Order: sequence, then structure tokens, then C-alpha cells
Amino acid sequence: MSCLFCRIIAGEIPGTFLYQDNRLVVLQDINPQAPLHALVVPRKHIATLNDLSAEDDGLVGEMVRRAALVAREKGVAEEGYRAVLNCNREAGQTVFHIHLHVIGGRPMAWPPG
Ligand code: AMP
Ligand code: ZN
Repeated sequence: MSCLFCRIIAGEIPGTFLYQDNRLVVLQDINPQAPLHALVVPRKHIATLNDLSAEDDGLVGEMVRRAALVAREKGVAEEGYRAVLNCNREAGQTVFHIHLHVIGGRPMAWPPG
């Protein structure tokens, strides 16, 4: 298994799990870009946003709702936060197993760089 997030989920590589259930996990990002930087990662290996199918609709809904719950739990829900899915090279995707970034705890600029 070569996928980094599959290996973390399988326990082959250490990770800091903020939450887990039978469909997804929430990892602490190893290189945080803000006071809160978590990654909502499905257990199912899906390489990019482009590889989602209709059968994943429920899973994606769970990811988005989990992001909101993480933000609430970490105390940034009312001030605001960002939930980001990077897809492929120009967006800066580096790990090819979809993950929803949950970033908050500081003001952020728009548009993104
Ligand atoms: P992306 O650029 O959207 O593919 O995001 C990949 C994210 O994974 C980056 O924010 C990295 O800091 C993060 N990352 C890379 N390796 C690890 C790891 N071993 N544990 C947790 N997060 C990681
Ligand atoms: Zn994977």
C-alpha cells in the first residue's frame, strides 16, 4: 500500500487522530497553516475529487458535516473557518487520497494564493 493516508489509517505510520468512525477519520495536519488545521479523510481510498462517484455522495456529506463539527468543537465555528478540497496539481494537491482541510483560528485572505 503506497498511499500515505491509507497507511496512517491502517496504523502503519503514526498520525494524530482527532476523531474516527467507521467511514472517516480526522487527522491533525503535520504542517499546520493555522491554529486549527485538521484533515477530514474518508477511510475509502479515493484519489481526487475527480474520482468521486454517485455512491460517494453520502460519504462526502459526512465529510462536510464532520468539518463543521470539528470547527465547532475547536471553538472557531462562529468566528469562521475554511473547508478546502485541493484537486490536482494547480490547486496544490500533494496527497492523492481526498481530504477536506479544516482551517481556522486566524483571519484568512480571499482569493487564495
Ligand atoms: P494537499 O496539499 O491538499 O494534498 O494536502 C496534504 C496535507 O497533508 C498537507 O497539509 C500536509 O501538511 C499534510 N500531511 C502530509 N503528511 C502528513 C502526515 N504524515 N500526517 C498528517 N498530515 C500530513
Ligand atoms: Zn489512500
